[in-house]
Amino acid sequence: MPRPLQALIHTGALRHNLARARAAAPDAKVWAVVKANAYGHGIERVYEGLRGADGFALLDLAEAERMRALGWRGPILLLEGAFEPRDLELCSRLDLWHVVHQEQQIDWLAMHKTHAPHRVFLKMNSGMNRLGFTPDAYRAAWTRLDALPQVDEITLITHFSDADGPRGIARQLALFNVTTQDLPGERSVANSAATLRHMDERGLRSDWVRPGIAVYGSAPDFPEHDAVHWDLRPTMTLRSRIIGVQHLRPGDTVGYGSAFTADQAMRIGVVACGYADGYLRVAPTGTPVLVDGLRTRLVGRVSMDMLTVDLEPLRQAGLTADVGSEVTLWGRAGNGAVLGIDEVARAAGTVGYELMCALAPRVPVDVTD
Ligand SMILES: *Cc1c(COP(=O)(O)O)cnc(C)c1O
Repeated sequence: MPRPLQALIHTGALRHNLARARAAAPDAKVWAVVKANAYGHGIERVYEGLRGADGFALLDLAEAERMRALGWRGPILLLEGAFEPRDLELCSRLDLWHVVHQEQQIDWLAMHKTHAPHRVFLKMNSGMNRLGFTPDAYRAAWTRLDALPQVDEITLITHFSDADGPRGIARQLALFNVTTQDLPGERSVANSAATLRHMDERGLRSDWVRPGIAVYGSAPDFPEHDAVHWDLRPTMTLRSRIIGVQHLRPGDTVGYGSAFTADQAMRIGVVACGYADGYLRVAPTGTPVLVDGLRTRLVGRVSMDMLTVDLEPLRQAGLTADVGSEVTLWGRAGNGAVLGIDEVARAAGTVGYELMCALAPRVPVDVTD
């Protein structure tokens, strides 16, 4: 029998969350962002749930090839554009739209031989200081691109650093709007947080929205709002079973470093899941876990292949968890109870994005509805 650890990808939830993003931006076209192997879910595994999108955004050229291999003929956007001149050959061959965020990419385009001109997304650094032309340089870049026979339509794009938090988007949006004032072309400015929180903001126009995390059922602004608030459903479940039980007496400790000490007699369950599976080693005692769909907590240090959970809340509820009992690390339990990935991430000092992206290749994955 294989090790009882398994991830499930929920096609129906992907479809539902995509519809939620669409409803939040009813006039926009929707890029489903599938970078990082669809946020750890697997591009091939999310395709069925997300094929209702208007396009797919990603940044790895090999992932773009995989999208085409799946039969997707619609738009694909390379969010970081070309990394070297020959990447443009693949763009021509597979009809990939690409971001242009720095001068060399324009040089490469100018030298590129192509029959069909490219659709490009000209990126402005409106304050995040990651990728893009500064507002000072933006219009000159636009003029240069517009003059190239290799370039077809130019879409104007920027990315917000604080759409999920109290700083908001107003400053960046104002800078973007002033700089692009009379430039023609579609605009794409909204990630998940901007799509869910700021679509009604004055001056915000996003002909294409770019939701990523929301599509995967995680709230971009947790803990201010949770997935239930935004009506998002978990798209990934990580489930295992108890493979051993220990009875602790007061003063007994658990695991490496004896990081947890029992202050009373208690049963703990040993779960087949560890940091080699992508569960975070830094997740501390108290991190929420579901056993047979009932909420309890992690105790002690996470090790490579195992972690340990407190079975006392089950006993108090009149249930006897034992070897074979189902354990849900995040997502949906067999009885329908949900443990939000955001809650688990928060306990470990990170965000849902990191947990889903970290799912290890050794974990078998099934696609269900
Ligand atoms: C990753 C990414 C997104 C999606 O962000 P989420 O917070 O997951 O919605 C949108 N735009 C760009 C440029 C990105 O790199």
